Amino acid sequence: MIRVMCSGRVDLEFVFRAFANGMDGVFIGGCRLNECNYITHGNYDALNMVLLSKRIMAHIGLNPERLRIDFMSSGEGMLFTDVVDEFTQEVKELGPLGQSDGKDKEEIQANLEEVRKLIPYIKLSKRKKLASRLENEEEQDGLFSLDEIEELFRDVVSYYIDPGKCQACMICYRKCPVEAISGAKNQIHVIDQDICIKCGTCFEACPPKFGAVKEITGEPVPPSIPEEERTIVRKTKKRANAKT
Ligand code: SF4
Ligand code: SF4
Repeated sequence: MIRVMCSGRVDLEFVFRAFANGMDGVFIGGCRLNECNYITHGNYDALNMVLLSKRIMAHIGLNPERLRIDFMSSGEGMLFTDVVDEFTQEVKELGPLGQSDGKDKEEIQANLEEVRKLIPYIKLSKRKKLASRLENEEEQDGLFSLDEIEELFRDVVSYYIDPGKCQACMICYRKCPVEAISGAKNQIHVIDQDICIKCGTCFEACPPKFGAVKEITGEPVPPSIPEEERTIVRKTKKRANAKT
């Protein structure tokens, strides 16, 4: 049981971490839609996050019924217990994770880890839809399509710094939110693909006159330039060296 101040606080990462930690089902309870006391209406955020999670679950071969969201007020304790009992029974019938999904544990674990690595990218790519407020159930059901999720995973963007263009201005290095970029003054910068969360900040931040950060899809990211070849020798320095 995880208590949060608002169902809108329940992140995609919480859901997939719970499954990765061996939970067979995840239930999210939120206040009734349109009864939020604040202008934020976080329960719509929670609903959209669940709709997205369910499509991702279907994409990786997990039964989406293992995830449920229901809305009720704090005065509806009986409804809460009924809903949780019903969900618990459903999950018991589905069996342990993987059993009714036709997947072995290792495959599920690998798929879940892959999703978790891409969560910041997924949230960024789908941020507009995640902020929707759809009241109609049919519209909610169509908010995310399976094709769209397949495309999202197929066309994952990677970011790469072109060593021939990087001028070591350090702007991307300072702006990267997860310290995935290494570099220093007069050193060509490189991105650690294992740390990068694909937020695209470096791509936006690199000055257009340098245009050193590239977006790559559908092909492998070139290996980083070796450390001993990263020093940039400026032309003025070259001239000064030539005079002496
Ligand atoms: S895409 Fe984002 S996380 Fe990745 S290196 Fe660039 S700024 Fe850092
Ligand atoms: S912002 Fe561009 S030019 Fe500056 S260090 Fe990063 S990649 Fe290199």
